[in-house]
Amino acid sequence: MVLLGVQPTNIEADVVKFGNSAALTRTYNRAVILDALRRTESLSRVELARLSGLTPQAVRNIVEDLLAEGFVKQIGRRKGLRGQPQIEVAINPDRGYSLGFHVTGSECRYLGTNLVGDVVFEGGAFKLTSDAAEIRRSLEQIEAACSQSMQDRARLGVGIAVSAPLAMPRHREPHSDYLEQVRTIQHFFGPDTWIENDANAAAMAENLSGTAKERSDFLYIFIGAGVGGAIVRDSKLQRGYRGNAGEFGHILVDPNGPQCHCGNRGCLHTYLSLAEFGDRIDRLGSDDGEIKAWLARAVPPLTRAIVTLENAFDPDRIILGGTAPGWLLELLLAGVQEILPSTCTDEAHQRVEISRLGTTSALLGASALPLLNLMTPHPGLLTKQSLEGMR
Ligand SMILES: [Zn+2]
Repeated sequence: MVLLGVQPTNIEADVVKFGNSAALTRTYNRAVILDALRRTESLSRVELARLSGLTPQAVRNIVEDLLAEGFVKQIGRRKGLRGQPQIEVAINPDRGYSLGFHVTGSECRYLGTNLVGDVVFEGGAFKLTSDAAEIRRSLEQIEAACSQSMQDRARLGVGIAVSAPLAMPRHREPHSDYLEQVRTIQHFFGPDTWIENDANAAAMAENLSGTAKERSDFLYIFIGAGVGGAIVRDSKLQRGYRGNAGEFGHILVDPNGPQCHCGNRGCLHTYLSLAEFGDRIDRLGSDDGEIKAWLARAVPPLTRAIVTLENAFDPDRIILGGTAPGWLLELLLAGVQEILPSTCTDEAHQRVEISRLGTTSALLGASALPLLNLMTPHPGLLTKQSLEGMR
């Protein structure tokens, strides 16, 4: 279904097929504990038992294992309203790191983040040529620099975000001609390498350390030269039957609108793409005539798309992000809020939010992929097949 060996997508079927064992259940329960901890500052064992539904003894055993392995650390006692203060545990950010790569064509950017998504290796960028040996030489240099910088911290995995569709093409989209280079990176780092398109990766960054850290059900609209999206339910990316779920850029907002490269007319992408600005976007401001014209064109279709998405998915939040600068996202949101129909305005919370991770969200998300795989209790952990990816 998905090229390049991304994790299995039909997990529920795998559960039926493979069954589980005590060891696999332990792996799952351990992820339940890590997931609860990563969403909070710290928790006591009593709170972990209450939140997870596991027995106090099971929680004690798992926490002991995680302490011994260095994934969590004790951070002292917190005084409660009653009873003895409890010793709290928290994720140990320095247990390890993950390397993230964002492939945008002829360029590949990279950085490293710790277990809570903070950047611990600043990284940089290198040219992706068609020469595999040259790419491997770049990767060797990056690996050496990163190892020196991280010293005794273990690498927990590698994630690659790709600005191209990875699934079976449904649309008449120009197919990426750099997937071979992505495969070279994947083969260099081996089996603990995770690959996603940039919108899915950016959504995962939101889930690890961004606006959606405490949320399990949200949608992400990626705005850049391309317009995409991601659907996250129960903290898991939804891929759809052919792996194309979340292609919000091709939501039809006006059948008589401009021609889209997918073959249809009036797709959201044709109004929201920033391709026309290229690198100039950073030099433009909110008062620029081009920006004003773009906003006037983009706000109404985006509003229509948001209403459609809210009705289809009933998400906790919709997050606007991507490679668009923050000030532009703020202007977009202000415009949307002015005309958003009032059907849900009695809700206390804001329905649409802006990513605070900045324009590197896809790169941060690439690095988040292996970390979330480690700390998210998805049903696939109960199968032998998925154990391979869980080291
Ligand atoms: Zn389209």
